[in-house]
Amino acid sequence: MDAVTAFREQWNLPGIIDVHTHFMPKSVMDKVWTYFDSVGPLTGMTWPIAYRLEVDVRPDRLRSYGVKAFTSMIYPHKPNMAAWLNQWAVEFAARNPDCLHTSTFYPEPGALEYVTDALDAGTRVFKSHIQVGDYAPNDPLLDGVWGALEDAGTPIVIHCGSGPAPGRFTRPGPIAELLARYPRLRLIIAHMGMPEYADFLAIAERHDRVLLDTTMAFTDFISEAAPLLPSDLPRLLDLQDRILFGSDFPNIPYQYAHALEAVSRLDLGEDWVRAVCHGNGTRLFDL
Ligand SMILES: [Zn+2]
Repeated sequence: MDAVTAFREQWNLPGIIDVHTHFMPKSVMDKVWTYFDSVGPLTGMTWPIAYRLEVDVRPDRLRSYGVKAFTSMIYPHKPNMAAWLNQWAVEFAARNPDCLHTSTFYPEPGALEYVTDALDAGTRVFKSHIQVGDYAPNDPLLDGVWGALEDAGTPIVIHCGSGPAPGRFTRPGPIAELLARYPRLRLIIAHMGMPEYADFLAIAERHDRVLLDTTMAFTDFISEAAPLLPSDLPRLLDLQDRILFGSDFPNIPYQYAHALEAVSRLDLGEDWVRAVCHGNGTRLFDL
């Protein structure tokens, strides 16, 4: 039995909902992999990608693990790219019914139009990458987008913490400001807001529609550089209904089972593990 199946049996999980997986056009994924190959000098750690599989077999690998729903996190690093990524994602989700149709945006003229198109097409989730996109969450060019997403109630996985690498606009402050302006936004703070865990937990505690994903947090790979303080563990228990498992598959430098083990070894109990790995995602996406 593989380690992921053993994990599911141990925790009595009917499946796994993975809110943070990357599928994107090949030309873009190749560039992402080149980035991770050269990331050592930037972050001080090497990043050997564990799942550099052929594109056709990657979703099947997730299915073999018992993943019932996953996403195709796409994100632009420049203008005039998001609409094209969104078009690709429509086709990917159509080919893979267990992929939650994912969309993205960038602060640019026309953003509201293609975000509205994505909502009309039934997109289930958005991705915003503040570090790679290098944009301010409160850029006026996004005002219409946030308003539309707030009204639609569609979740947005947002990479806004300063880890593993900081950006010009990553940190809790701009997100607190964004939520002061759009308090009903359903943000999913990626990576638990690493390394600014405490500040992002406080944001989630103040805004009951805000969630967090576990992506890379608590793993051996990240724990040394960005450890969670033991004093924050009770807060994770209080937020049990709003923490979602995410893996960053396939761009991870460790085995998928380790991402799951990183969640369970926090020792917050069976209910917590089951909520994070399955129940919360099922409820959020009405699966
Ligand atoms: Zn990611």
